[in-house]
Amino acid sequence: MELTYADVVDLADQLANRHRYAELDSVYGVPRGGVPVAVMVANKLQLPLVDVPRAGTLVVDDLVDSGATLARHPDHVRDALLRKPHSPEQLAPDAKEVTGWVTFPWEHDSAPTDAVVRLLQHIGEDPTRDGLLDTPKRVVKAWTELTDGYGQDARDHLSVSFDVTADQMIVVPGIDFVSICEHHMLLFTGTATVGYIPDGRVLGLSKLARVVDVYARRLQVQERLTEQIANVINEAANPLGVGVRITARHSCMGLRGVRKPNAEMVTTALLGKFRNDPLVRAEFLDVATS
Ligand code: ZN
Repeated sequence: MELTYADVVDLADQLANRHRYAELDSVYGVPRGGVPVAVMVANKLQLPLVDVPRAGTLVVDDLVDSGATLARHPDHVRDALLRKPHSPEQLAPDAKEVTGWVTFPWEHDSAPTDAVVRLLQHIGEDPTRDGLLDTPKRVVKAWTELTDGYGQDARDHLSVSFDVTADQMIVVPGIDFVSICEHHMLLFTGTATVGYIPDGRVLGLSKLARVVDVYARRLQVQERLTEQIANVINEAANPLGVGVRITARHSCMGLRGVRKPNAEMVTTALLGKFRNDPLVRAEFLDVATS
């Protein structure tokens, strides 16, 4: 839903009317979306705006979603223009309910490049100097590429399989990948070994590498990445077992924090025979570690 200023003025009037007879002495807008709302509501109620909420302050926001921002003001009367069906009951209970993505008029021109400009300013850079002029655009493009796994369903890559009688372990070692740690949004790079024992259905070899990419090219933690790869192969091919082993270096460990550039993290996900049969497990890990 794309709101116009006329919509917002209307909603702000409704909000103000809900508090017309309340004993309030000021209005505070939760940054940033609550600020224009506060200006309109304060004007309507003939109350002053305050920089910091005090005892008699009405705290307003544009939209209550999870309610995290309004929840920071538990001692105040709180309200918002809009709320989501899943928003906590006590926050803006009389606000108009909306579903889906809402864009306010002050958000129409905002773009992800703005966030990069802000970050450059934050680290002390001048985003207007020559070398940085196109950087926000490049950064957004790079991040869009690095996270293109979100637009893909790994099961699509595994939909074609071949009927065979093979029941021997198939292992694809050395699948290189680049992923992004969700805690720092820094890269981690590594190698995956993927193995399974078919039960009548064999998957295309190159498809296993595609599946690794689909899950790697998102914000991840290595443990989840490992499990997601194993689980989707298990679902798609219904094999006798699946093994995935990932070795990766995390730049968040190497470049900052503990600064251990050579530290490697190893994660393993074993399903079916790979988990239950020590010989199968040993054979797989032998290939994966060689
Ligand atoms: Zn990290």
